[in-house]
Amino acid sequence: MNQEIKVLIELQKLDISIDNFKTKAKAIPLTLEKTRSDFDSKNKDLESLKQELVKILLDKKQKELDLYTKEEEKKKHQSELNKVRKNEEYFALQNEINRLGKDVSAIEDGILTMMDSSENVNAKIKQEQELIKQEEVKLEQEINRLNGELTAINKTVAVQELQRSDLAVKAPVESIALYEKIRKSKKGLAVAELKKNFSCGGCNMTLPPQIVNEVRKMERLVLCENCSRILFWKGE
Ligand SMILES: [Zn+2]
Repeated sequence: MNQEIKVLIELQKLDISIDNFKTKAKAIPLTLEKTRSDFDSKNKDLESLKQELVKILLDKKQKELDLYTKEEEKKKHQSELNKVRKNEEYFALQNEINRLGKDVSAIEDGILTMMDSSENVNAKIKQEQELIKQEEVKLEQEINRLNGELTAINKTVAVQELQRSDLAVKAPVESIALYEKIRKSKKGLAVAELKKNFSCGGCNMTLPPQIVNEVRKMERLVLCENCSRILFWKGE
């Protein structure tokens, strides 16, 4: 095998590896973003529970004020009972007192229901806070893991890029240029193996005997007639 094709094969291996690592590295910020937004949405659930609790407590406060007003009114009417002379006035007041009494117990029921719901929401908040605490630890670990992975990938890519430039000078400038040109137009794969059945490893087309012979000799760079990739023969 001549030096030129050996360099191109090695170059191709390195480039595939660098491409793969770069694709992985590109995906990491997106994963990070998703991890963070998943966590944020859990935080939002907690916030809406807190708002729900505030609303219940405000409503309860309002009901308590209503209760106070009605009770005061009822007391006032009860003291008036002693002062009225006419029967119809007495009954009217008594009716009013009964009505207020019903209102008062309805409001009291309402307050009890609100106390129940505020207890429920409070329990949910505590549960959610506990969950978020655990999620926060997981988030921190995941962020560290992803950042570590990114750093490791970047280091490997830097090393491989150095190896690549050391390697590239070992082949003629024109073949490197040809390699780059094909790589660009063929989605990263410029060098393809000539398979045992004499088909091109890049496009699967079976190649004529003359091309096969030339590739096997490896005296010069031979391109696939169909996909224009540089062909190489691994040996018997
Ligand atoms: Zn081909």
